[in-house]
Amino acid sequence: MAILKIVKRETDEAFLRKKSRPVDEITPRTHTLIDDMIQTMRHANGCGLAAVQVGVLRRIVVIETDEGLFELINPRIIAMSGCQESEEGCLSLPGEWGITRRPMYVTARALNRYGEEIEIIAEGLLAKAICHELDHLDGILYTDKIIRKIEE
Ligand code: ZN
Repeated sequence: MAILKIVKRETDEAFLRKKSRPVDEITPRTHTLIDDMIQTMRHANGCGLAAVQVGVLRRIVVIETDEGLFELINPRIIAMSGCQESEEGCLSLPGEWGITRRPMYVTARALNRYGEEIEIIAEGLLAKAICHELDHLDGILYTDKIIRKIEE
């Protein structure tokens, strides 16, 4: 496994704004990428990472919270409800934080690394993380959704 370089908005915003393409075929390279993304996320003390943030424009995200580790390929949100306002940050925007408004409950479907369809019913932090990471796949950053910036 390897720790990958995280693309930062400060230097590479144009890349982070690109739309990621679906994964057509899950190969050993996909597994290596996911393993490296997990290691990179943990090394940076993050709770989520999208492939675009390590320079790969494919629809893959990893998320880790108290509820476990989630590896999502071609994820999509199929239902959302409720509302939460809470602090949010991003490994591509180090040292910045803001308050966003996100759904409290999210149901998402994706493929796991074995190509099996999985469904996640998420609440609170996990729901927020899913929204944040899936936004990355469409070139959206959480700063687009900030309702209040947090001053140092
Ligand atoms: Zn992010």
